[in-house]
Amino acid sequence: MLNAARIAHVLTLKHGVALAGEAGDEPDGQRVRLWPTQFPPTRGFMIEVLIGWRTLTAAANPGNYAGAMLSAWSRSTGDRRATFGVFAQAAMNDGATVDLQINQVRVDPLSPEAWPPAWRSFALTLQKGPFSIDGKNPDAVFALATKWAGRVLCCVLSLLELEPAPLEGHAEGGGHQGLVTRYERSNTNRAACIELFGPTCQVCGFDFEVAFGDIGCGFIEVHHTELISGLEPGTILDPSRDLVPLCANCHRMAHRRNPPFTVAELKAMYRM
Ligand SMILES: [Zn+2]
Ligand SMILES: [Zn+2]
Repeated sequence: MLNAARIAHVLTLKHGVALAGEAGDEPDGQRVRLWPTQFPPTRGFMIEVLIGWRTLTAAANPGNYAGAMLSAWSRSTGDRRATFGVFAQAAMNDGATVDLQINQVRVDPLSPEAWPPAWRSFALTLQKGPFSIDGKNPDAVFALATKWAGRVLCCVLSLLELEPAPLEGHAEGGGHQGLVTRYERSNTNRAACIELFGPTCQVCGFDFEVAFGDIGCGFIEVHHTELISGLEPGTILDPSRDLVPLCANCHRMAHRRNPPFTVAELKAMYRM
């Protein structure tokens, strides 16, 4: 059986949103359900991953009384919807189909301008397969479940402005330490950047989880290739162009010059 508490823990560290989970083995596969603890499950949303014999499904559905969350999703702005598109596209690039239904009508996840204005229902399902799944290998199943639960979580969080909730957060760059009080735009950009590039330093390849195990999970700094102070207020960041994951060392080296060294320049200098 999948270790739901551990998956919830890993994703809480990665995304800064406290999650709880439960798991079960069923005739059609190994299932894990995860939900944010800051809402009662009926008012929040449920992430569900089912790993079958040769297929995988990762879904997000709001609870039965999640009208407030549906209306928050339906009010999502263009930049948030563009980030949703980044996550949807990443899932497609990884061989999944993305089925997004709003008001029980299938809509194009990459064309948010065509989504209906008022949302009465929402269902997102990522499906992959048939492909070979080593269902007898607990580590492989755990990694697969965590990855796809994280993908679908990124999709729903990208559309949300959550109310303040005390969570242990990550420091981004040299910036704020300590508590993250809401799921900020910067968290979504950060998650999108890591989803696109992976959690490894793009200069030296350092991966904190490989090096340090659990405590390194989800730990990487995200560097803005344009200095943030130079951006016009309200500029929409493109996580694939404007952000890059760097380890703490390479990040400090990038800022040895103003404007910062580019990734290509740092790679050319790097000697190890
Ligand atoms: Zn590095
Ligand atoms: Zn930086």
